[in-house]
Amino acid sequence: MKQSEMLIPTLKENPADAEIKSHQLLVRAGYIRQIASGVYSFLPVGRRILRKVENVVREEMEKIGAHEMMMPALQPSELWKESGRWNTFGSELMRIHDRSDREFALGATHEEVITSIVRDEVKSYKRLPLTVFQIQNKFRDEARPRFGLLRGREFLMKDAYSFHASYESLDLTYQKMFDAYSRIFKRLGLNFRAVIADSGAMGGKDTHEFMVLSEVGEDVIAYSDTSRYAANVEMAPVITTYPASAEEPKEMKKTATPNQKTMKEVADFLGHDLDKGLKSIMFKVDEKLVMAVTRGDHEVNDVKLKNLYSASMVELASAEETETVMGTGFGSLGPVNVPKEVEVVADLAVESLVNVSCGANEEGSHYLNVTPGKDFQVSQYADLRFIKEGDPSPDGEGFIQFARGIEVGHVFKLGTFYAENMNAMFLDDQGKNQTMVMGSYGIGVSRTLAALVEQYHDDRGITWPANMAPYQVHLLSLNPKKDEQRELADQLYDQLLDAGIEVLYDDRKERAGVKFADSDLIGIPLRITVGKRASESIVEMKERMSEDKSDLEASKVIDYVE
Ligand code: ATP
Ligand code: MG
Ligand code: MG
Ligand code: MG
Repeated sequence: MKQSEMLIPTLKENPADAEIKSHQLLVRAGYIRQIASGVYSFLPVGRRILRKVENVVREEMEKIGAHEMMMPALQPSELWKESGRWNTFGSELMRIHDRSDREFALGATHEEVITSIVRDEVKSYKRLPLTVFQIQNKFRDEARPRFGLLRGREFLMKDAYSFHASYESLDLTYQKMFDAYSRIFKRLGLNFRAVIADSGAMGGKDTHEFMVLSEVGEDVIAYSDTSRYAANVEMAPVITTYPASAEEPKEMKKTATPNQKTMKEVADFLGHDLDKGLKSIMFKVDEKLVMAVTRGDHEVNDVKLKNLYSASMVELASAEETETVMGTGFGSLGPVNVPKEVEVVADLAVESLVNVSCGANEEGSHYLNVTPGKDFQVSQYADLRFIKEGDPSPDGEGFIQFARGIEVGHVFKLGTFYAENMNAMFLDDQGKNQTMVMGSYGIGVSRTLAALVEQYHDDRGITWPANMAPYQVHLLSLNPKKDEQRELADQLYDQLLDAGIEVLYDDRKERAGVKFADSDLIGIPLRITVGKRASESIVEMKERMSEDKSDLEASKVIDYVE
């Protein structure tokens, strides 16, 4: 491609609102432009690199027998009402009306759409298992869109869905997906870990997140220094519920109130077996119900929550809406049915929970209808205080370390939640009607692109790994006004194209300094410069990642590059 014909608007300065490297560099190097908060255009080079990521994902999906399809972003509200998520998804779901006042959602994920298709088209066990995927834009009205492509309101996701006649079959596909995800992020050259995620309200179902290790990650993972154990600590900035005027408590205190229920009593209400690891507690804040789902062993009668190591806000419904409780994210906390009796919910003293990091992350806080800083404080020290670096790993091997991670992928065993609510049934080999078992699997394609830049950059710009670069070669003619330079560069450009090499040709009438700076910014692995020595048919070769330059005869360029 000739740069003179392309829209690659590079900038010298960082955009004012861009806090992290990937955001700064993708804008400065002309890959993306923002059009509204959390909404981006991909300019030509940006589109190109996005497609490279997509292609790796696509290839690995096809290898495990998932087939690509494409579902609409525009989805009738009826489907979301069937699943229950119309009410439970909260403000993150974008909702619109058509001219006849019919309600629609803009797809935040596609469980509803795919389940409605499969229930109509698949009636027999003979057609199961079935796995489909798509690569398509998703819409989520994030409370805090930020960090460029890392948290957008419209973003590109690969989402896959599998349907099964049995849990054993789901287990097999889940493992295949898990392995495919591992291959994808490895091929992309990312430093990542697969971590146990919060199965939250779904309880007991397998779910893993794929985390790219990065300082700018919003998640914290705890991992063993010697084994493969790794888990999301779900900390985020933890919001506690003490009044803004109060001092941030320095240690956990236990405060009993007359109507306090023990964890055990609440667990009994919720039908959770405290011995099986998942624990839930409910309490009231300003007449609203809050449910915290926790993992880890903790004393029940003594409300000694010392070993609690993950708590997340699941739902903040009003008392009338206690039938369904829903987490804030697709996958991480699926919807769960809570019995009506929960109305007599435990009114665990809020104070006793104050220090238990039992609250939403900042994002979830909008459900509370309160303002951070005004109605409650963001607790800085709450982070992971119940599990410390150096604690023994839960798998018994090694000791706990912490790292920050960017969630780039998520695999999740959904079980029968959607199939039950939406009546997706099949006839088994005995002719009996059975409910389908499902899995869902997401990759944030545009977020992954940003994660790549977080990992591959230096102070001059992006440093793409060779297999992910938008082009392999950046060809520069330093002074195209000089005939011999322009002609040699033109000739090399044609030869590179003929050899099937992806080349970006800077034929612009710009100063040499501008061309070099832009080239470093854009980050193509190999730079070939046609300059003063064009008359001798000599060009300069330089790799983006090295300071060394060398001269080469123009006739040897193709051999060198290949
Ligand atoms: P997060 O915890 O970051 O909000 P999530 O758990 O809500 O993400 P999922 O519902 O699991 O996200 O969606 C699948 C994948 O889509 C995520 O693993 C992530 O890579 C990507 N993703 C989710 N939300 C966004 C967003 N706002 N912008 C870009 N990518 C996103
Ligand atoms: Mg989310
Ligand atoms: Mg997730
Ligand atoms: Mg998540």
